Amino acid sequence: MSLALYDTWSRAVRPFAALQASHVGLYCCGPTVYDHAHIGNLRTYVFEDVLRRVLELNGYAVRHVVNITDVGHLVSDADEGEDKMEKGSRRTGASAWEIAERYTRAFMSDWQALNLLEPTLWCRATDHIAEQIAFIAELERNGYTYRTNDGVYFDTSRQDDYGYLARLDHAGLQPGKRVALGEKRRATDFAVWKFSPAGSTRQMEWDSPWGRGFPGWHIECSAMSARYLSPWFDIHCGGEDHIAVHHSNEIAQTQACHGTRLANFWMHGHFLMHDAGKMAKSNGDFLRLRSLTERGTDPLAYRYLCLSAHYRSKLRFNCEALDAAQAALDRLRKAYASWPAGGGADAGFVARFRAEVNQDLNVPRALAIVWEVVRSDLPAATRRATIDAFEPVLGLRLADWQAQAFEIPEHVAALAQQRDKARVDRAWGEADRLREKLKAAGWQVDDGMDGQRLRPIDGAT
Ligand code: AMP
Ligand code: ZN
Repeated sequence: MSLALYDTWSRAVRPFAALQASHVGLYCCGPTVYDHAHIGNLRTYVFEDVLRRVLELNGYAVRHVVNITDVGHLVSDADEGEDKMEKGSRRTGASAWEIAERYTRAFMSDWQALNLLEPTLWCRATDHIAEQIAFIAELERNGYTYRTNDGVYFDTSRQDDYGYLARLDHAGLQPGKRVALGEKRRATDFAVWKFSPAGSTRQMEWDSPWGRGFPGWHIECSAMSARYLSPWFDIHCGGEDHIAVHHSNEIAQTQACHGTRLANFWMHGHFLMHDAGKMAKSNGDFLRLRSLTERGTDPLAYRYLCLSAHYRSKLRFNCEALDAAQAALDRLRKAYASWPAGGGADAGFVARFRAEVNQDLNVPRALAIVWEVVRSDLPAATRRATIDAFEPVLGLRLADWQAQAFEIPEHVAALAQQRDKARVDRAWGEADRLREKLKAAGWQVDDGMDGQRLRPIDGAT
């Protein structure tokens, strides 16, 4: 069965065909690195990872580009308030550049722990200021911008279909109703360049034809996707919150500059929720992947939890659901490890699995097929080979798992936890000291892709 995907632009599941033979350009909006990513953000990256894996299953070579927003994302989506990076700098006492570096590294480590495939290319907004300035200059030449006291704005009144992606209700956005206008001509207009406040210097600022300042948030994605893919590529992804503002504005800019709406398919992951509502960085009330590992959950159990819900449905997070995912993953690992290698995959199951993931990434149904295989009366080696055929999509690293044959004493686990924390804080001296302490207690610590692993030094336990 061929691949069909839900496209937010057309609000429909439609057959997927690549624009250029077997090559797919995929652009995913990446993290704003002023704080740690929370598990809600990570749910979106798991969805995008599965999308990429399913495209590859269908024989496409995917050029996967993910940006790092390290400048320009303001506290309010209405172009007001502080830059999140400068705010993060005040919160932590480190420079905006340092926190960008710190949280980018932390993000990459979460990325690896969840077994997300490495993108073809990461690109940072601050490494592409020249491209963004050139893009804005083109918008200006085409008559789409105007200046105010605090920046250069995109004039959304020039496009009749502005906000189509979000099916924007223009009437509901009239000034005086919900949105403060400031010097903007229209509520939906947005900054493409902001000036550094008069009389003060920002940590991150650049010269431009319009004055010293920094790019607006949306322009980076229009400029970098055009550079690394083209102004017309296959799929653009993000979380559902991006539909109304960020992606609508990317489309407006690229339409004005290149005459395209960027991507043939627009795909959005739905939110991870918790009891208080949407999980969000801005209210400070969020869980990190580390919050889960500190309570003993395997990062891949969180991946399993994400796989168990369709990407277009909200997922309510709670510890019971997480523990159930961990228990299911443990059962699957044990079953898999008990089967011998050397069999051939069952063609019927493989076809059914593929049909489910090809139907707009129906991974929950595909997981149900995994369990049918586990419970089936197929020879054990066939079951193993069949699950192996699913692994390129599931990414659960079943073959890497080995049952731990030893118990880790509590005081050793506590030392390991302290060392883990020291590594995250990049307190390398402290991490080394704790490594020695563990060694003295008879335990060797190995730093792997998904964190550190302990093993007893021979004869010590
Ligand atoms: P940010 O770092 O805030 O720029 O967001 C990174 C990605 O996470 C974007 O694609 C967002 O749309 C997405 N995102 C933000 N909050 C959530 C949430 N609660 N659940 C799922 N995805 C989210
Ligand atoms: Zn973006």
